[in-house]
Amino acid sequence: MEPLQINNVTIDQLSPKNQIDIKMLRLDKIHSDISGNKWFKLKFYLDDANTRHAQTIATYGGAWSNHIVATAAACRLKNLKSIGIIRGEQPKHFSCTLNKALEYGMKLIFISREEYKQKTVPSEYAGIIKDAYLINEGGYGQIGAAGAATIGDYYEQEDYTHICCAVGTGTMMAGLIKAAPAQQTVVGISVLKNNVDIQKETGALLTEDEKKKKFSFIHDYHFGGYAKYTPGLIDFMNKFYTGNFIATDFVYTAKLMYGICDLIAKDFFPAGSRLLVIHSGGLQGNQSLKKGMLIF
Ligand SMILES: *Cc1c(COP(=O)(O)O)cnc(C)c1O
Repeated sequence: MEPLQINNVTIDQLSPKNQIDIKMLRLDKIHSDISGNKWFKLKFYLDDANTRHAQTIATYGGAWSNHIVATAAACRLKNLKSIGIIRGEQPKHFSCTLNKALEYGMKLIFISREEYKQKTVPSEYAGIIKDAYLINEGGYGQIGAAGAATIGDYYEQEDYTHICCAVGTGTMMAGLIKAAPAQQTVVGISVLKNNVDIQKETGALLTEDEKKKKFSFIHDYHFGGYAKYTPGLIDFMNKFYTGNFIATDFVYTAKLMYGICDLIAKDFFPAGSRLLVIHSGGLQGNQSLKKGMLIF
């Protein structure tokens, strides 16, 4: 299988806007399926599982989950077995994501949306996951945040006044805050609608000292909610690609980049700010869109 290419990470210059310098950290380039932040969030869990002599990893996600396919691929790479506990009844036709996960050898278990909410697995599966090392949905947790903090090793902290990222569970954001020096601000664009709990959930991954660092969540760029989009967002993705030859995904990184451009236009960032925007990957999810919508 395709190896992880950590050395492929680059920092790309985007065109400056309103006296704001913008660079992008290309974590999307390390692997097509273990893409972006997912590898960083997973890596210490996999080490921990290894230390505990677990042979199987189990985790949760939806039918198009970047985390599910990343876990399947990372486990394959590390010779671990994997189980994906998937939200909703088993569909007639599997998504590209689930087919990929199967190809990597992941065993899929489908549970109802109710069971998924409670994270309860029906007793018929209890035996299968009994000895598995469980990872939360999206890799949320201290170990995931510690892994995400190592994203900070890929750039010079002093070069940036602001680090900007997309926020789902807040695990990556917590890691970026951990890695941030005191004078830097971490800005998170939440991709869920009205996710007011995110402050608390991210905070739960930080120490008291880390909570005193500078960071803020922006709730204005969810485009209707998680995995929702508008023609305007798709248009933005195509234009961003034409201008920079960088593909974004409609669930996370397009909303992030759209939000950052809009915030710059609204003078959110002081003149002279130097931004690093994290391209956290997730491009496989674009396959859920109708063919022809995107030019890349
Ligand atoms: C999962 C994911 C995120 C969100 O990361 P969290 O740590 O859950 O906040 C952001 N971008 C992409 C591309 C992702 O796949």
